[in-house]
Amino acid sequence: MINSSSILTDKFGRKHNYLRISLTERCNLRCTYCMPAEGIALTPRQHLMNADEIYQIAKVFVENGVDKIRLTGGEPLVRKDFPEILAKLATLNTTLTLTTNGVLVDRFIEDFKSCGVTTVNVSLDSLHPQKFSRITRRNTFSKAFENIKLLQENGFNVKVNVVLIKGFNDNEIVDFIKLTQTADIAVRFIEFMPFKGNDWDKSKLVTQQDILSKAADFFGYQYLEVLKNEQNFTARAYRISNFKGTFGIISSVTNPFCDSCNRIRLTANGRIKNCLFSNKETDLLNALRSNEPLEPYIYKALVNKQAVRAGMSDFQKLSDPQQHSENRSMLTIGG
Ligand code: SAM
Ligand code: SF4
Repeated sequence: MINSSSILTDKFGRKHNYLRISLTERCNLRCTYCMPAEGIALTPRQHLMNADEIYQIAKVFVENGVDKIRLTGGEPLVRKDFPEILAKLATLNTTLTLTTNGVLVDRFIEDFKSCGVTTVNVSLDSLHPQKFSRITRRNTFSKAFENIKLLQENGFNVKVNVVLIKGFNDNEIVDFIKLTQTADIAVRFIEFMPFKGNDWDKSKLVTQQDILSKAADFFGYQYLEVLKNEQNFTARAYRISNFKGTFGIISSVTNPFCDSCNRIRLTANGRIKNCLFSNKETDLLNALRSNEPLEPYIYKALVNKQAVRAGMSDFQKLSDPQQHSENRSMLTIGG
């Protein structure tokens, strides 16, 4: 017998109140660390959740304790029915937010406002247009950068996600932190994670220590403030004294946050992943289409969640390509 008040609590007592929904596998960029070089085979449209199915599935999660929903992808803003999806989800009265590459943000500012979105995460891996093009394989730096400013001008909290890759953009760490001097933004440096086809190698990792040393060397150790961690934090947060914004470090690879994990992921084809690193999935869309209750499926997916990174408990296991070669690329999981 399933106790519906606890289906989102796993056997380690972690309560999963945060649902991340991938709206699409499509994207208008082709980031090398996310999109495999050979591209991905897109799921046929009839196997993807439509706007109403997204709402119906999210509603079950909310009824069982989810109070925060993030829309991601692929690029969530390439979905033609994005405004409709956002408006439906807004009726669930959760914190509603999204992660985007920023390129199309200017088209949706009013939708964000009317649906109560207050924070937007924008991914931007370089402050140099040419390097941006190398990593994204597209020339849209100015659009993404202008849209970060536009979000700020319109009163949104903006978090800028930067995936660090050694030898590519680790020489921009200080420049990204400098952005926080006058802008009240949160820059978050993310460790490069291994996924199928993304050419990951541990020598490309930029560690927390690397980042802090660069910040301390440039700004002065005495000006580096360690901020209090939020509940269920994923980014350890810092501020340079007197700077308006903050910076954080998301070290999912070398120093994961599994103990306090409160996240559950729903892929665009309606499957739950209980961990970013897990290759096991539970199909909710078929259950919904067969008019079955979703709770038993959600319970089953959560109860099997492992303590740490889908069982890749140490760095050695994670560094083994065999361990993650069967996992989907980030693009289809929803980062
Ligand atoms: N298209 C949107 C974007 O880029 O923000 C949302 C989807 S994207 C998959 C979500 C986040 O995952 C982005 O911040 C992206 O940088 C991050 N990401 C993708 N692949 C990654 C990887 N291999 N390692 C670390 N972060 C990754
Ligand atoms: Fe697209 Fe985001 Fe992946 Fe880049 S990180 S390819 S923008 S989904």
